[in-house]
Amino acid sequence: METPETDYSRELELRFKAVMEVALDGIITIDERGIIESINQSACRLFEYEESEVIGSNISKLMPTPYSREHDGYINKYHKTGERKIIGIGREVKGLKKSGVIFPIFLNVNEINIGERKIFTGIIHDISAIKKAESDIIEMNMLLEEKIEERTEQLAETINQLLRTNYELKKQISDREAAEEALHLKETELEEALVREKELSELKSRFITMASHEFRTPLSTILSSVSLIERYNTTEQQPQREKHIAKVKNAVDNLSGMLSDILSLSRLEEGRFQVKPVQFEMQKFCHEVVEEMQGLIKSNQHITCSMPDHTVEVYTDSKILKNILYNLLSNAIKYSEQDIDCTLTDDTDSFTIVVEDKGIGISEEDQKQLFGRFYRASNALNIQGTGLGLNIVKKYVDVLNGEMSFESELGKGSTFRFKLPKKHT
Ligand code: ADP
Repeated sequence: METPETDYSRELELRFKAVMEVALDGIITIDERGIIESINQSACRLFEYEESEVIGSNISKLMPTPYSREHDGYINKYHKTGERKIIGIGREVKGLKKSGVIFPIFLNVNEINIGERKIFTGIIHDISAIKKAESDIIEMNMLLEEKIEERTEQLAETINQLLRTNYELKKQISDREAAEEALHLKETELEEALVREKELSELKSRFITMASHEFRTPLSTILSSVSLIERYNTTEQQPQREKHIAKVKNAVDNLSGMLSDILSLSRLEEGRFQVKPVQFEMQKFCHEVVEEMQGLIKSNQHITCSMPDHTVEVYTDSKILKNILYNLLSNAIKYSEQDIDCTLTDDTDSFTIVVEDKGIGISEEDQKQLFGRFYRASNALNIQGTGLGLNIVKKYVDVLNGEMSFESELGKGSTFRFKLPKKHT
């Protein structure tokens, strides 16, 4: 006869079984020796066994080595020392299917005391899917990392390639620029050479025109005077002889003046020229030059000099300065009939000389080229000259680190002015 107690434990067992059967996780109970007492359907499916095939077997049947070998040792050790490896903690272990397949499980073991007896309940959760997902993620991660590494390498290579191309392009550009610059330089050099060549040929023809014209006048004067002198053979004809001798002297002076201008110019242009500064006093110097000009001035002409009351001491090349002043004064004499003014002013560190005449003047058109070699204004062609004087004057002023300027009005007169430092350095 069944007691109410037996009824109750029977009901409990049925309830436990019902819970076991509906549980999704595998549930296995073992005794203290590790012998399987019960196993639910989920666990059977998991391990691919029929319930009857595992009940009464050691739990190690469901474990791969080394777990199967070590399992009894765990239980014994736990009995002796109470040290827990799984019990009440739960851990990840491996399960062994009937087919021999090893698979990952999360095992949670609990100890249940039933009177004197101890049983262990293991709840087995299959984590194959999680593990698979984990390993898939790891694999994917690795793949991604590989891809990223590959892409990074490709990118680095592309960047390097770009940098190399950029460098090549820059080099090509700078090479092209250098070539263009060299070409441009050559072009400019050629253009300059062409201009020089043109200038030279123009100069040659101007020189030939000037020489044939200007040399012929004094030479024919010399020739006619000499043939006349030859004929004046009586003592009474001495005055005529003297007149023609003076004419010859004058013509020779003109010729040697022209030759010395040509010589000065070639010296200046070839750089065979040295400035030799000396200390002297300007007032005295101007008076001496004006005195020398007396032989050249026309009968109704005078040169008036205006100078400061105090002495103006300078340290410069007196020969060059004389040449400049001489040239300007002789032009003023040559191209005018009236008085000429020569003014010296003291400008502290420099001095200025102005030569002013009331002569034929220079047209605006001619003023543009006045300092050019052999250049002669259109209104001066019937007056003797080489067109070299002003060119030399300008070069001399430059050599003495000075400045030169002029103003002129056709038919009214001209003013030439130059300013030089008092102390040549
Ligand atoms: P040159 O007097 O021997 O012809 P220059 O070089 O001294 O040569 O002068 C160049 C030209 O400038 C002259 O031919 C003349 O036409 C013009 N010129 C120079 N000085 C004067 C001046 N004081 N008045 C008018 N024309 C002048």
